[in-house]
Amino acid sequence: MKVNILGAAGEIGRSAIQLTTSNSNILMDYGISFSKNEPKFPIPLSSKGLDAILLTHAHLDHSGGIPIFYVSTKPRLITTKITVEISELLIKDLIKLSSYYLPYESLELTNMVKSTKPVNINDQFRLKDLSIQLLNAGHIPGSSMFLIEGDGKKILYTGDFNVINTRMLQGAQIDLPRLDAIIIEGTYATIDHEDRTKVERDFVSSVNEIVSNGGTVVIPAFSVGRAQEILCVLHQYNVKGKIYIDGMAKDASSIFLNNPDFFRDYSLLLEAHKRAIWVNSWSERRKACKEPGIIIAPAGMLKGGNVRFYVKKTAKDQKNAIFLVSYQVEDTPGAMLMKNGVYNFGGKNEKVNARVKWFDFSSHCGNKELLHTIKMADAKKVILVHGEKNKLEKFKRILQDEKITEDIIIPEVGEEISI
Ligand SMILES: [Zn+2]
Ligand SMILES: [Zn+2]
Repeated sequence: MKVNILGAAGEIGRSAIQLTTSNSNILMDYGISFSKNEPKFPIPLSSKGLDAILLTHAHLDHSGGIPIFYVSTKPRLITTKITVEISELLIKDLIKLSSYYLPYESLELTNMVKSTKPVNINDQFRLKDLSIQLLNAGHIPGSSMFLIEGDGKKILYTGDFNVINTRMLQGAQIDLPRLDAIIIEGTYATIDHEDRTKVERDFVSSVNEIVSNGGTVVIPAFSVGRAQEILCVLHQYNVKGKIYIDGMAKDASSIFLNNPDFFRDYSLLLEAHKRAIWVNSWSERRKACKEPGIIIAPAGMLKGGNVRFYVKKTAKDQKNAIFLVSYQVEDTPGAMLMKNGVYNFGGKNEKVNARVKWFDFSSHCGNKELLHTIKMADAKKVILVHGEKNKLEKFKRILQDEKITEDIIIPEVGEEISI
């Protein structure tokens, strides 16, 4: 068995791995990354001879390049039902917003969706000489890890995963058989996340404080997953005040509500959404800012989306707050706000008087959970991907100190590894 690392080597973004055995040739993920606002793709791969494409989850850094394979061929796409529905939403948005060249159009996306064979989490199936099982990854709804057997070898590709239970999702399934190799993400390989319950409590008490003093809390959140998780947290803790949800988060919510099987507590998800006010017009948007309440809107890093309107309306008043609940990539408006307390109002950076605070609602494993997973897998070979190179190097040293295995690889793009 061989794996060819086509992307996400020493970087976060454009995940893509080709796996070949004596009889099979499959691709796992084919995502994009953004550099200087232009999409960057993994190493090109011919769709000829490809038996199937497997997709771990809908995020564009895993799904965004897949329509390329539907220009002249129609390989089978194997993933969960909700993953293909969310991918369609995100890729449609990418096509709509792109001011740059994309090597595919809506037609290819449609062909991709039509070529999907939905598989349930935990289902085991055969694909030529491979035996494949999807395991719950706990990262976003429908996210899965792939346990693959072929050529007498057993490997796991984690995609993005999270082992802790969140309000919305069950933590990843890491009760694993002995593996020959694990291909594991390392987004947060060197840091530990704060205890989740503590994060929730801090967040809720901060929200309550602002709202009870007559303020508005604006929560920039990713459309898929984070917005709904925050809604569930607010409902679970019975937070007082009106809760608004806006932007593409509403489209993602509609998909979520149609797919009850993918949630840890569907009734919480349903009740939280029933309680929320779905904002649909500019008059509703203006009204939402005028009274104390909580507004959840994308984008998570304040790069576009309706949230910019809410920030402009509320940022000058110190009784309001902007609570960031997602990782803020350097140089994004969200990172600038966190670091310098400023926001760009129509071309000029101005001071924000509203309270700004960041909460660690991560959907990835931290250092402790990654170590635990690798120990559980007892893998002979550890392949570290989907992380910044220096952090993966540091994590490798931690693994060596723990004497888990000597065979730890931080691959280069295009590196082929024999299992
Ligand atoms: Zn992801
Ligand atoms: Zn990712």
